[in-house]
Amino acid sequence: MNIYVLVKRTFDTEEKIVLNGGVIQEDGAEFIINPYDEYAIEEAIQIRDAQGGEVTVVTIGGEDAEKQLRTALAMGADKAVLINAEEDVEDLDQFSVAYILAEYLKDKEADLIIAGNVAIDGGSGQVGPRVAELLDINYVTTITDLDIDGDTVKLVRDVEGDSEVIESSLPLLVTAQQGLNEPRYPSLPGIMKAKKKPLEELELDDLDIDEDDVEAKTETVEIFLPAQKEAGRVLQGELQDQVKELVQLLHSEAKVI
Ligand SMILES: Cc1cc2nc3c(=O)[nH]c(=O)nc-3n(C[C@H](O)[C@H](O)[C@H](O)COP(=O)(O)OP(=O)(O)OC[C@H]3O[C@@H](n4cnc5c(N)ncnc54)[C@H](O)[C@@H]3O)c2cc1C
Repeated sequence: MNIYVLVKRTFDTEEKIVLNGGVIQEDGAEFIINPYDEYAIEEAIQIRDAQGGEVTVVTIGGEDAEKQLRTALAMGADKAVLINAEEDVEDLDQFSVAYILAEYLKDKEADLIIAGNVAIDGGSGQVGPRVAELLDINYVTTITDLDIDGDTVKLVRDVEGDSEVIESSLPLLVTAQQGLNEPRYPSLPGIMKAKKKPLEELELDDLDIDEDDVEAKTETVEIFLPAQKEAGRVLQGELQDQVKELVQLLHSEAKVI
């Protein structure tokens, strides 16, 4: 089984995010593997261990993304590919990222491609389906279970809390949803082995991609943090008085009754 996992380096949204001039400050921010991509890596490793084959993790990013690729290798992936687009282009959007990934994947004869359902930073959930469309292969999103028997694949996908059971066939692209598995932590021997595993670095030129081919179709106009919530108000006094005041406030201030 020839498996590719699409991995995005994201900043950790659990940490404090600082904006400066509408741009997220990378200095001091924590960077991680997009959590949905951890499910994708774990699933790929489990399938390879059960059925044989190879797991390659691929990312588009700068040199810094090597750290996240090494983590994926330490989890158990066999090979990593860093497509360094930063040198050639400044602005990439979902169209550009999917185009580059599809150009890389088009002659790889992948049986299965696993992406995350959504990136926790950009959050568009577009890249997986776009790549599948460009490669002209089947795709199923937000999967929570996957069972491969020959060329047939049975999948369960999460539909807003309900489950949908789908049958498809290889080659296939799926996007991983929470609940698909429990991603492992890299072990110490895994971390040692990862240092020697192959990590290939490519540039757009190596993929015969011209800057114009990947020109972003969209422009981010503004990024802003949500408005700070006002502090809550605690009513004082006798319970009956508090209830009266509450009703009055709901009527006159909140205007909900
Ligand atoms: C060099 C560079 C420059 C960029 N410049 C800009 C910019 O100027 N303005 C701006 O708004 N955004 C920029 N981006 C971000 C880019 O627009 C998003 O990374 C991309 O559009 C993915 O969209 P998303 O975050 O919504 O991913 P989603 O579609 O939500 O991601 C879903 C899944 O797709 C896969 N995936 C997503 N991104 C990548 C990736 N980079 N490599 C491998 N797999 C991936 C992962 O499996 C992920 O879980 C840049 C990114 C790069 C790498």
